[in-house]
Amino acid sequence: DVAREKELREAEVMLKKNVLLTNVDKILNWARGYSFWPVSFGLACCAIEMMATAGPRHDIARFGWEAYRPSPRHADVIIVAGTCNRKFAPLLRRIYDQMPEPKWVIAMGSCASSGGPFVESYAMLPGVDKIIPVDIYIPGCPPRPEALLHGILQLQNKVANPPKVSVRKHG
Ligand code: SF4
Repeated sequence: DVAREKELREAEVMLKKNVLLTNVDKILNWARGYSFWPVSFGLACCAIEMMATAGPRHDIARFGWEAYRPSPRHADVIIVAGTCNRKFAPLLRRIYDQMPEPKWVIAMGSCASSGGPFVESYAMLPGVDKIIPVDIYIPGCPPRPEALLHGILQLQNKVANPPKVSVRKHG
């Protein structure tokens, strides 16, 4: 009937405006921020601080991050904690590629962010962003657990408020 058709037309217009989709995305992104599954991955001294963050004193579970996964296929975030040399770089890339989308990367410490104290070495990768995209950089050598928790909050904020994508019209 006429009223039903009008309702359907209105619903179609609403869908075209993405009103429904935007709200669902917002809820989904908010929930994602509190249920990250990091892959168990540590490369050097920074990993000790990462492990301390998961302990009872700093209690990473407060933010829903305690479900560390042994397989990258079950994880959506990787905290690169430590020194990554050039020989290891292809393996890091492979681990990253094995994670399903959507996924995020935290570079923890100056080694992962920029090569750290070993940056002059021929063997050292001057930052893991040379091989995988990094979302959050955490300075320090090593950063304390509080710094990692701050980085986690920054990532939650980034995931909950993704940048708006503008579409440029050509012609
Ligand atoms: Fe070790 Fe410092 Fe490098 Fe962290 S940033 S892995 S503490 S040398």
